[in-house]
Amino acid sequence: MTREKLYLFDTTLRDGQQTPGVSFSLEDKLSVIEMLNRLGVDYIEGGYPGGNPTDNALFAEERKSKATFTAFGMTKRAGRSVSNDAGLQTLLQAKSKAICFVAKSSEYHVRVALGCTNEENLESITDSVKAAIAAGREVLVDCEHFFDGYKANPAYATACAKAAYDAGARWVVLCDTNGGTMPPEISHIVSTLTKVIPGSHLGIHAHNDTEQAVANSLAAVDAGVRQIQGTLNGIGERCGNANLISIIGTLVLKPHFNARFESNAKLGELTHISRAFDELLNRAPLAQAPYVGKSAFATKAGIHASAIAKEPETYEHVKPEAVGNTRAVLISDQAGKSNLLMELTRIGIDVKKDDSRLDHLLREVKEREAQGYAYDGADASFEILARRTLGGVPHYFDVQNFQVNVGQREGKMYSEAHVKVKVGDDILISAGEGNGPVSALDVALRKDLGKYQKHIEKMELVDFKVRILNGGTSATTRVLIESRDDKGNRWFTVGVSANIVEASFQALLDAITFKLIRDGVAA
Ligand SMILES: [Zn+2]
Repeated sequence: MTREKLYLFDTTLRDGQQTPGVSFSLEDKLSVIEMLNRLGVDYIEGGYPGGNPTDNALFAEERKSKATFTAFGMTKRAGRSVSNDAGLQTLLQAKSKAICFVAKSSEYHVRVALGCTNEENLESITDSVKAAIAAGREVLVDCEHFFDGYKANPAYATACAKAAYDAGARWVVLCDTNGGTMPPEISHIVSTLTKVIPGSHLGIHAHNDTEQAVANSLAAVDAGVRQIQGTLNGIGERCGNANLISIIGTLVLKPHFNARFESNAKLGELTHISRAFDELLNRAPLAQAPYVGKSAFATKAGIHASAIAKEPETYEHVKPEAVGNTRAVLISDQAGKSNLLMELTRIGIDVKKDDSRLDHLLREVKEREAQGYAYDGADASFEILARRTLGGVPHYFDVQNFQVNVGQREGKMYSEAHVKVKVGDDILISAGEGNGPVSALDVALRKDLGKYQKHIEKMELVDFKVRILNGGTSATTRVLIESRDDKGNRWFTVGVSANIVEASFQALLDAITFKLIRDGVAA
């Protein structure tokens, strides 16, 4: 039996951006785009061109993405032509393959929010879709408040969806904007609508206000839609959006879905990407997250212990290795080892399964994670650790000592750093200033590395994030550093110490070492 294709649309960078406390920089967005491409989503909604400077910059150039890169914006205003609508024109200028319009589909919102007539709103939908198609874009229309609108006036909500479809939109997306609709209502409304618009052109966009966004999305698929919109780890305003991580786990692993549907989603890195995304947000991953949480496969011992020891499947609905996770009650190191092997393959290190150095590396990773290192968010540090253990990192340089001074001079704060480095037989001493101790140290460290200097000249520190791991005066600090070079490569490194400067210094050293390894520099 041929399986039908399900499409995944990620809106982390647009709807997810509404999460309290979340604000993506351009660099963050580019990192998330890379993660999403590894996850295998079909569409990436990058943001709202014209909405803010970050999104303007993001859409100013073509972005490398396997998934269809999509710009979000509003349909044209009533009483204004397409060519006279500045917002719509900005959207048409944006460098994206697809455009996702948000359109009102509830009579109540048309009256209160838009203040135009029902007919004018339909005309806005039709004209906007046609203009975007004429500009060569694939078009999606998010029908905002669709389910609430449908319950109040089914004919009008249907007319809005139909207007988008008739004008040529590839996808008409039904939104549970307030997130209060129940799964049976979703099923009923979607199946009724499929009599007017084929399910192969319908999508679902569910919010999580009753903790049912994932259930609602899956109910909509059962009722006929073929596109699901959601976000990484379910971030989003209020209670969030449908969690794509959970949805992917279920679609790929559960026979109820995988017998009928296929998608481009890749399961192996699910846990890694979910955790790496949390690290990028500088927040602790949720231990109880389905499929990917640290506790997702942690059945407490006690009465179950012997059963788990004999047959781990007795208390597991899927195999943890399938999603790149591990069983917390480890029977053997087998699971940890197979994940480790998968990670090594991903970064291009070939090791045999029975290589004894793997056990050593696994122990090393575990010990370091116990100290506070988090390698899901710091691929480059993981690669250095792996190559060191497997015997493949040249000895480039030694830092003999460093010093950082922070103080106030004539009412202004200053930060200065001095570094003494030994490269071969040369002793190199450099000083640097920065807007804080870490940037001063970074400047000093990268000022003169002798024969390696030309390799690190074009690299720069993009971002650093500090997390205090346990409270009190004996707190451990984890520093995550993002670096990039002039070729557009970006890498993340991590350092852990009771002292924030030392933690930063470790991450800076890893960042430089990684660049030298990447460039294939010999010692
Ligand atoms: Zn939304």
